[in-house]
Amino acid sequence: MAEKDIPYKIHLTEGEMPEAWYNVRADMKTDHRPILHPGTLQPVTEDDLRPVFCDELVKQELNDKDRFIEIPGPVRDFYRMYRPSPVVRAYFLEKELKTPAKIYYKYEGGNTSGSHKLNSAIAQAYYAQAQGLKGVTTETGAGQWGTALSMACGYFGLDCKVFMVKVSAEQKPYRKAVMETYGASVTPSPSETTQVGRQILADDPNTTGSLGCAISEAVEAAVTAEGYRYVLGSVLNQVLIHQSIVGLEAKAALEKYGEYPDVIIGCAGGGSNLGGLMAPFMADKLAGRASPRFIAVEPASCPSLTRGRFAYDFCDTGKVTPLAKMYTLGSSFIPASNHAGGLRYHGMSPILSQLYHDGYLDEARAVGQISVFEAAKLFARVEGLLPAPESAHAIRVAIDEALKCRESGESRTILFGLTGTGYFDLAAYMQYNSGVMEDYIPTDEDLKRGLNALPALPGVE
Ligand SMILES: *Cc1c(COP(=O)(O)O)cnc(C)c1O
Repeated sequence: MAEKDIPYKIHLTEGEMPEAWYNVRADMKTDHRPILHPGTLQPVTEDDLRPVFCDELVKQELNDKDRFIEIPGPVRDFYRMYRPSPVVRAYFLEKELKTPAKIYYKYEGGNTSGSHKLNSAIAQAYYAQAQGLKGVTTETGAGQWGTALSMACGYFGLDCKVFMVKVSAEQKPYRKAVMETYGASVTPSPSETTQVGRQILADDPNTTGSLGCAISEAVEAAVTAEGYRYVLGSVLNQVLIHQSIVGLEAKAALEKYGEYPDVIIGCAGGGSNLGGLMAPFMADKLAGRASPRFIAVEPASCPSLTRGRFAYDFCDTGKVTPLAKMYTLGSSFIPASNHAGGLRYHGMSPILSQLYHDGYLDEARAVGQISVFEAAKLFARVEGLLPAPESAHAIRVAIDEALKCRESGESRTILFGLTGTGYFDLAAYMQYNSGVMEDYIPTDEDLKRGLNALPALPGVE
């Protein structure tokens, strides 16, 4: 097909939407190391996880066999309300950059929660309801996950208890308003409502909270209440399975026009959007059918892939969760507040970590937030869409790659994930516009504190 025939927006029809998620673990050359029970240090079993997650999600978490997992009918029905999401050819950005590269982005911000997180929230809420549970608990940092989950629980009539990092709850009252509109209850964390919250407050009464603290509280709230389970919006294997819908749709849409990306870029907080976007392309790479280059982009203020260690660590600050082998800055690491709240997690998805360690995820790049907002502003101006700061990390690197093509004259096809809208991040845009935004990059000394506190596990590699 002639290039000019590629439309600005490529839509799949509803009938072309995937009917199954893809589970990359079934194809990985080395599976990631098992998650370990925090007490026994043995690999967790289904029985260990059932008090925490709902039964079907426990199975998905431990599933390294099934390549495809059918998307349940009620989840597909819900997906139809906001999917398939478009793949957009960023013609105007290409023109602005005078690059021979072709730039595509997959846009996940077109739903009320404003990000890709709804893709997994609706699946998790469905399984909880199907099991007859009363409700779920979770944590939220910047608020995107809590918002997505409150929508999903509202749809299926489940109670939803959200522990929201205290500083975010104070800075983002509108997020709280959306969650409450959908029927969720929102508790600033750390709180006095859990034992682990009281402990964290006793240790540091002035703490502004962190994702790791809020996870500890949400897990405790789930396991101590009858009929509740805990759900998490990123990092876990099950979440990457659900997010594969993003990559499956993107691949199918590009195939319609005979396109295949040379470079695939995603921002990486816990790794779910990048894991989902790259999943079907990774399948090609693992099978030797194609070799696209994958780039994970993280904030310089929270550089788990680029400066962290590949080690077993707790997934939360309170050390109540199992241990996962992942790239981590240490569960006690609390990143400086930056404006990409969704990227402020100390660890990285074990799947992504293993793929990075094995060289299939080719590169991780850390970028400073001022250069990220420069990219966001340029993108907003020429492509007409205000991106979330998290997404703008991917835009930054997509622009940099396209500029490299301008220098080399190479025409490469770039695909990046535009994970969300920036409408809930206007305080950040205000800071950037008024010139008071700062780049905070932790020193080696800063990082050492978290890394030195990694758990010592005798006999475990
Ligand atoms: C949460 C979030 C991210 C980062 O999370 P991942 O699990 O790494 O995908 C990126 N973009 C937006 C808009 C988010 O809300």
